[in-house]
Amino acid sequence: PVVTRIAPSPTGFMHIGTARTALFNWLYARGRGGKFLLRIEDTDRERSTPEATEAILRGMRWLGLDWDGEAVSQFERAGRHAEVAHELLARGAAYKCFATPEEITAFREAARAEGRSTTFQSPWRDADPSTHPDAPYVVRIKAPREGETVIEDAVQGTVRWKNADLDDMVLLRSDGTPTYMLAVVVDDVDMGITHVIRGDDHLANAARQSLIYTAMGWPLPVYAHIPLILGPDGKKLSKRHGATGVEEYQKMGYPAAGMRNYLARLGWSHGDDEFFTDAQALDWFDLDGINKAAARFDFKKLENLCGQHIAAAENSDLLEELIAYLAAIEAAPLSETQKDALSRGMDSLKERAKTFGELLEKAHFALTERPIVPDEKAAGALDPVSRGILEELTPHLQNASWTRDGLEGAVKEFADLKGLKLGKIAQPLRAALAGRTATPSVFDMMLVIGREETLGRIADAAG
Ligand code: GLU
Repeated sequence: PVVTRIAPSPTGFMHIGTARTALFNWLYARGRGGKFLLRIEDTDRERSTPEATEAILRGMRWLGLDWDGEAVSQFERAGRHAEVAHELLARGAAYKCFATPEEITAFREAARAEGRSTTFQSPWRDADPSTHPDAPYVVRIKAPREGETVIEDAVQGTVRWKNADLDDMVLLRSDGTPTYMLAVVVDDVDMGITHVIRGDDHLANAARQSLIYTAMGWPLPVYAHIPLILGPDGKKLSKRHGATGVEEYQKMGYPAAGMRNYLARLGWSHGDDEFFTDAQALDWFDLDGINKAAARFDFKKLENLCGQHIAAAENSDLLEELIAYLAAIEAAPLSETQKDALSRGMDSLKERAKTFGELLEKAHFALTERPIVPDEKAAGALDPVSRGILEELTPHLQNASWTRDGLEGAVKEFADLKGLKLGKIAQPLRAALAGRTATPSVFDMMLVIGREETLGRIADAAG
């Protein structure tokens, strides 16, 4: 069975790249009936914060990337990491190194001066333990010095390193705490991870980490190192290009389904498919479809896909997401009346909105209450002539049956009767009903707010 994981370091906000890596792991596992696990890599005590961990959990939940079991804290497993370091010592695959930082610096400087490799070669590697001083030490792996280390990567292909370039990395620091390299391997093994899908900035780490697997006699996971996300200009994605934090996208009102679709397409493809559902992504996702070249973030495409997902969503799901969106941006929650109005209008509102903000903007007429305060343009559209038109239109609406056909028929008939173009009636109607001149269709608005409210707003404006 497939077991994947996302292993973020809680040192800031949740980056969009982390979200994409999490999504790939989630899709790969969930599409195969496997498990998807979450490990918080909080070994770096200086930089890790509980707030950053919370931000990761919120981001994962918002994106709907559910993980199996409890989130694992790497820091809490330090004892187990040390145990493996000592096991490696016992096997002769690691050694205690008593070199001081000054000695290491001196080694490097001399090597540089002589034009030799600056990879530190510890004099303690082959020292007789009886000569060990009673002094602080680090535990280093005894990396092979000859030959090559080869990683078969599902995305990058076969990647080779000369062992001469791999140093005897530290596994355990002098204070007994594990290094990142050791912790990742031990945790992945203990968590039963079968596939490590992560950013290609970790590719060289895979070579070094593989030494620990080999020394412990553990089978390697399948590696898939995915290319970075670039900005539209081909440079590393940064704030300069736009938002880089997952929560910023939530606050900009993008629907989670649209984000999943877009992030899945960011570095992975399935033929020419752009818009797809979660079910399709789960069915299609495979490591073969991951592109070797770095993906460029395309904000237009994200918006486009989000618009399609809003239009395709179930109205009841949209309402729930809107409620969550308002909470995320710390806006006032919807009243029951507003929820009802939104539900009635959702069919037309969800067309052509790329974000929840746009949808709510279009829904403004349904969310406000009498008296409607017109904006500047709407006030202009309510000149005396227009107010007269509204007044004369009123009995026609009062007698109309409150259906689309009924309302359209009544307004048309009135227009014919008065020899008016439809726009001459629609514009003051928009102003009266919404207090704005850019609104959904007047018939949609009348149907959503209902007869009584429509006639009331018109009376207010005509008054
Ligand atoms: N904690 C690492 C990071 O946030 C990920 C390590 C891994 O996936 O192996 O970059």
